[in-house]
Amino acid sequence: MRLIRVMCSGRVDLSFVLRAFANGADGVFIGGCRLNECNYTTHGNYHALNMVLLCKKILERIGLNPERLRVEFMSAGEGILFAEVMNDFGKKIKELGPLGKNEGIDPADLKSRVQEAAKLVPYIKMAKSDKLAQHLYKTEEYSEFFTSAEVDALFREVVSYHIAPDKCQACMICFKKCPVEAIVGAKNQIHVIDQEKCIKCGTCFEACPSRFGAVQKIIGGPVPPPIPEEKRKIARTGKEKSGTH
Ligand code: SF4
Ligand code: SF4
Repeated sequence: MRLIRVMCSGRVDLSFVLRAFANGADGVFIGGCRLNECNYTTHGNYHALNMVLLCKKILERIGLNPERLRVEFMSAGEGILFAEVMNDFGKKIKELGPLGKNEGIDPADLKSRVQEAAKLVPYIKMAKSDKLAQHLYKTEEYSEFFTSAEVDALFREVVSYHIAPDKCQACMICFKKCPVEAIVGAKNQIHVIDQEKCIKCGTCFEACPSRFGAVQKIIGGPVPPPIPEEKRKIARTGKEKSGTH
């Protein structure tokens, strides 16, 4: 068992949970302060709750039993309750067995499924930011807060960005604005997006000047392959060099 202590349950990111599963954890337990008893105005434990509800649906989507993930809220004085909850969770995880075994997924496939989901975390958090910030006051709301259909759609209609080589003017605006350096480009070079690094934030789509409109948003479809390096050079005419575009 591995214990990770963070100041607030709201700090437990979706990516931490998926990383734990990608590293072979059979179960993940998150303990937070009682809801509505947070000392801060942020009430981060509501974020933790929403994140867990979403993550459970993601686990279901990739074929894992969502009971491998649990969140519980209790106060520091509830030692007996904590012991009971931990014993119960330990028992559940023993019943479920090693990650993927009960689910019938072979280890290599399992790792790639979890890693694929982990790669989508920034996009998922952005797409669901409003819901992730909500406060659920009634436990009856938990079960259907995130639905399987909603999470399936999120994966099915995943957004990708692509730079159309015939439209890119190598102005370097997107290159400078990409928060994760996922755009490969240089002066007079058609830019390309490294899909492995891209976190699908859409900044390049917003930033590309409308007169170029070179960044394309692709929903749920395949992304065209990047233009080969030897074809990326843009030959400028004298007029273009003097800054007419
Ligand atoms: S979508 Fe965001 S992360 Fe991806 S290339 Fe564009 S700016 Fe970079
Ligand atoms: S902002 Fe548009 S035109 Fe400029 S380099 Fe990026 S994709 Fe090309």
